[in-house]
Amino acid sequence: NQTHFGFQTVDKEQKVHKVAEVFHSVAAKYDIMNDLMSGGVHRLWKRHTIACSGVRTGNKVLDLAGGTGDLTAKFSRIVGETGQVILSDINESMLNVGRDKLRDMGIVGNVEYVQANAECLPFADNQFDVVTIAFGLRNVTDKDAALASIFRVLKPGGRLLVLEFSKPVNETFSKVYDWYSFNILPSMGQMITNDAESYRYLAESIRMHPDQETLKGMMEQVGFEEVTYQNLTGGIVALHKGYKF
Ligand code: SAM
Repeated sequence: NQTHFGFQTVDKEQKVHKVAEVFHSVAAKYDIMNDLMSGGVHRLWKRHTIACSGVRTGNKVLDLAGGTGDLTAKFSRIVGETGQVILSDINESMLNVGRDKLRDMGIVGNVEYVQANAECLPFADNQFDVVTIAFGLRNVTDKDAALASIFRVLKPGGRLLVLEFSKPVNETFSKVYDWYSFNILPSMGQMITNDAESYRYLAESIRMHPDQETLKGMMEQVGFEEVTYQNLTGGIVALHKGYKF
């Protein structure tokens, strides 16, 4: 019943509780922190994910662990009135910030909000053309259960895109990135959200997350086919894509 919360070994229930605390704590300042921490580059990673998703007018899309809805906002414009996007997250605070932001942007009509755990999705089988999970899988306690649940709700021919922090390919680059993550990130978190702990968890959870090849194997294990990945920004982030046939 043991798992990891950052570098700590905790039991599974504790992890769920601690991850919930992190995202309740950071929700209000989540978007500004994302821009600061990544120097705005997260926007490019997300734009690339949309471009690789192949989403078209009329599609049904699930933005899982969608948080404050960056991907949902873009998908909503692409799928149009005949399509639908579901912004889903386990955390009520993140979902509320997302809902308010999207409504302020005038995005209404084709977006629904569903609070759900990725490990046991409350949707019927074979529903979605595309499922995305951006910077979310790392926080999920049972990743295999989440991947299996996503596989179940995808239509045959549908695809999953996982955008997630991964393993930098270059050793030197990796050391600089480590230094940044364990020194700069928690200080920034402290200054902006008064919460260094949450950002320490962020850095630790990135180190504990399966690397590119391991995640590819996990996707194949639950049934995904033609699984490929691209390293972005030297492997700081990877975009995995797999199909359900
Ligand atoms: N996708 C958004 C983005 O890219 O900006 C938000 C990513 S945020 C780092 C991670 C999100 O995963 C949080 O909103 C958190 O509540 C959500 N999350 C964590 N565990 C989850 C689970 N088991 N099921 C669904 N969402 C989960």
